[in-house]
Amino acid sequence: MLDALVIGAGPAGLAITAALCDAGLNAAGISPLAPDTLWTSTYGIWAEELAPLGLTGVLARRWSACAVYAGERRIDLQREYGLIDNAKLQAHLLARLARAATTWHTGRVAEATQLPDRTLVSTRSGAEYAARVVIDASGHAPVLVTRPRSPRLAYQTAYGIVGRFSAPPVSPGQMVLMDYRSGHLDADERREPPTFLYAMDLGESRFFVEETSLAHTPPAPLDALAQRLHKRLAWQGVRVEEVEHVERCVFPMNAPLPALDQPVLGFGGAASMVNPISGYQVGAALRFAPVVARALATALDDGAHSPENLARTGWQALWPRQRLRRRALYLFGLANVLRFDVRQTQDFFGAFFDLSRPQWSGYLSDTLSTPELLQAMLNLYRLAPAHVRGALTTSVFFAGEDLLRAARQEFIS
Ligand SMILES: Cc1cc2nc3c(=O)[nH]c(=O)nc-3n(C[C@H](O)[C@H](O)[C@H](O)COP(=O)(O)OP(=O)(O)OC[C@H]3O[C@@H](n4cnc5c(N)ncnc54)[C@H](O)[C@@H]3O)c2cc1C
Repeated sequence: MLDALVIGAGPAGLAITAALCDAGLNAAGISPLAPDTLWTSTYGIWAEELAPLGLTGVLARRWSACAVYAGERRIDLQREYGLIDNAKLQAHLLARLARAATTWHTGRVAEATQLPDRTLVSTRSGAEYAARVVIDASGHAPVLVTRPRSPRLAYQTAYGIVGRFSAPPVSPGQMVLMDYRSGHLDADERREPPTFLYAMDLGESRFFVEETSLAHTPPAPLDALAQRLHKRLAWQGVRVEEVEHVERCVFPMNAPLPALDQPVLGFGGAASMVNPISGYQVGAALRFAPVVARALATALDDGAHSPENLARTGWQALWPRQRLRRRALYLFGLANVLRFDVRQTQDFFGAFFDLSRPQWSGYLSDTLSTPELLQAMLNLYRLAPAHVRGALTTSVFFAGEDLLRAARQEFIS
């Protein structure tokens, strides 16, 4: 019988399967398409998140010149950013599967049945697989992992174009993490939820430009983002000349945590691993995969053979108490951002990137301890202009309930 069956061949599914193989487990995977089918999303990541994993080689491009526009104010970031070469990262992860002669099945999982010593997974076409533990990495709308319903899901949405333009939409050689300039918006548009441009020079006269709504309930519509992108480009005197790829991005930023005692383990979007304040997840999936895999391998060695016990071990490795606490703080941060207007958003991010480099970068990559994260939040409060501080102060009353609810949810599960 398999030790582990992984559902899904996205970044999370392949990362956890590769880590299970490295940990010596007998693992297999399943997804509707073959696992080497190229991911189509444009994945960006801070280079220093890949360095400790020895994975900087999977970057298609790296930018040392990164910038943020907090309104008209430009802030240069001293931190290298990279664009993942999906084919390279997939090939790297699949090579680790191949070394362990791992089988990958194609099929769409429909349901699971729990038995005392195994979980049976069946597909829509009637195929059945048995494993000691099943890991659901089927994305933000998981097939097996269950989560409480949330009436207040905030979504990141973005509309992007890879292509050629009549003039460079960003300075040559540059990457712009967030351009919150709003000179092109009319008075009505300024009252709408704020959006920013995420853009990069891909070389050889190709650029990626994406109008992004960081988080909003309900999701900012993609056609409105497309309109805004074209309006922004026109304001900069830039025309789209050739479209190579259109990216449409929608995913939840604050999906509730799944109950951490359910017998199927989640990973990636299925386990609510998206950072609620940045929307990033690929780095976390790569970082946590070996942690979870080692915990499962140890539990199997120790004779824990019931699916419930194994899944619980995995959930605890993925969401230890300190990480749950940090997540509550991130959710509180998100609740603030959701209430900001254009000017507050611009000045908030101005203050955020005025934090010391270790503070803002650790905040975004979730590498700070809880006290360090709290300190960063207090420093941000101190650095913010009065009108943002005022909004943050009232948020403690409005969103304090969010914080308590988030904390309660985290600690109960
Ligand atoms: C357009 C876009 C851009 C993003 N950009 C970034 C970024 O720059 N950096 C970053 O860190 N994060 C980014 N994210 C957020 C997040 O990292 C991605 O959503 C990421 O793809 C989530 O990985 P995942 O493996 O959990 O899920 P997915 O990538 O969604 O993969 C899910 C897998 O499960 C399979 N599956 C689904 N249902 C079943 C089923 N019933 N049976 C079997 N298999 C099934 C799917 O076919 C797929 O293989 C982005 C998200 C989007 C949508």
